[in-house]
Amino acid sequence: MSFRHFLNFEGLSPQRIGSFFSKVDQLNFYENIKPNHHIVAHLFFEPSTRTQMSFTMATIRCGAQPLSFPFENSSLKKGETFLDTLLTVQAMGVSAMVVRHGYPESMKDILGVIQIPLINAGEGSSGHPTQALLDVYTILKERGRVEGETVLFVGDVSHSRVAWSNFGLLSLLGAKIGLCSPKEWLPQSKKYKFEYFDTLEDGVKWATVVMALRVQKERHSVIQNFDIKKYQVNGDILKKIKSDAIIMHPAPFNREVEITNDVLNDPRCVIWKQVANGVKVRTVLLKEILKLQ
Ligand code: ASP
Repeated sequence: MSFRHFLNFEGLSPQRIGSFFSKVDQLNFYENIKPNHHIVAHLFFEPSTRTQMSFTMATIRCGAQPLSFPFENSSLKKGETFLDTLLTVQAMGVSAMVVRHGYPESMKDILGVIQIPLINAGEGSSGHPTQALLDVYTILKERGRVEGETVLFVGDVSHSRVAWSNFGLLSLLGAKIGLCSPKEWLPQSKKYKFEYFDTLEDGVKWATVVMALRVQKERHSVIQNFDIKKYQVNGDILKKIKSDAIIMHPAPFNREVEITNDVLNDPRCVIWKQVANGVKVRTVLLKEILKLQ
């Protein structure tokens, strides 16, 4: 007899419960997992469109199944902690976790408690390594090389986890990094070598890659009163950008704030290619992590 509904224990015999438990004993999720039986949990504790959907696409493309976390309706609302949420999902038997959290360097805390593979999908303002992978892959495809490229980061640099992760990967691969940003948003770091540009015009004349960054209001602790227009990639600046340079933005972008519509429509702008490359890069990464290739 199989259950039609399961509402309570009325009418069930101890034998029926016993036979049910023997079926549970026979289940074995953890041995010889077929690719399409791998489940990858996507735990986003912060809003996301691109990264979350891109990881969902990548998970499906590599033959595994995505399991997403209902951030707004989760037991976080009942006081469950970030780490206890991850331990709960790990205990369900997922094969890997893709995690985004608003605290800088939150992955360090997770690594100590999670035994399954973990992928950093963004941690506060400190890092977003898969975005850097897709950005650098895009530079390689569009410019033909990374070493020796002159990559200019414009605007709200210090709050940008995308910029911080790009600094790491670009330095590793021998690109040069330029910054054009108000002094309040200049990154403080002795780890990387930067070229500084006071005007955007000078910066873009130097650059083979211009990376505009979102003004990240959610990370600002004080209201700034400088003129953001000085750091806007707009029609006037477009005329000074090298004819064979590329224009990038990790998105979401604020139209007419850090980048204008005419720039977004310029053939040198590769933002949609970045999005497409994001799915490809994350698919290969997941395949490696799940040992599917
Ligand atoms: N999507 C990127 C991130 O999650 C960039 C941004 O939000 O501005 O960090």
